[in-house]
Amino acid sequence: MSAPASPTLELVGVFGGTFNPVHYGHLRSALELVERLQLAQLRLMPSAQPPHREAPECSAAHRAAMVELAVAGEPRLACDTRELQRPGKSYTIDSLVELRAELGAGTGLCMVMGCDALLEVNQWHRWRELLDWAHIVVIARPGWALPSAGEIAHWLAEHRVADRQRLRAQPAGCIAIEELRPLAISATEIRDILAAGRSARYLLPQSVLDYIQANSLYR
Ligand code: ATP
Repeated sequence: MSAPASPTLELVGVFGGTFNPVHYGHLRSALELVERLQLAQLRLMPSAQPPHREAPECSAAHRAAMVELAVAGEPRLACDTRELQRPGKSYTIDSLVELRAELGAGTGLCMVMGCDALLEVNQWHRWRELLDWAHIVVIARPGWALPSAGEIAHWLAEHRVADRQRLRAQPAGCIAIEELRPLAISATEIRDILAAGRSARYLLPQSVLDYIQANSLYR
């Protein structure tokens, strides 16, 4: 008798961040992940009130509007504004619980984060519970190494899977590391360029730059 086929779940991704503003580093990584992991969809989810950094000067509504513009025309990417609808600090765990309730247990959920975010994940609210609700997909980023010691390194070693197919065998609980095209673009640098009156063209979509100009952001 042959062994029963392992389940292959559909995968949906969620990529949180301040997106202040969204840029091609985020967008290209998002699209490469969609194709690499064959995600049905990847949702960029702007944080309304990031718990671990100062409130961005640019409002959550503006940041979400820029994400909406950036993903327009790419049906595999979407903007998820749930954190703008929730009062108080934007805890990722709360969003994952909501997403899991919406998707049901028959869909794999992949929470995407850059390597820089991974290095601080143990400061996140209820961080060890994140894997109860989703897989975590870490994007290796230029200039950032994976933790090699400490509790995050142990957590990584315990849950890391080398075979991407494992993400389809269960709805949550695995960590995968993906090396994508490195694009050394950061929102901090874009804000600095704009504040200095220089051009940020080609670092982010023109539609987002037009929005920034029309709304006099990052002056
Ligand atoms: P800031 O410079 O303001 O800190 P950022 O450009 O790092 O912003 P965030 O909105 O803080 O962007 O990042 C959201 C997520 O996107 C994080 O998990 C971060 O690691 C990831 N990320 C940011 N820039 C890149 C990039 N160039 N390539 C891949 N991932 C990125």
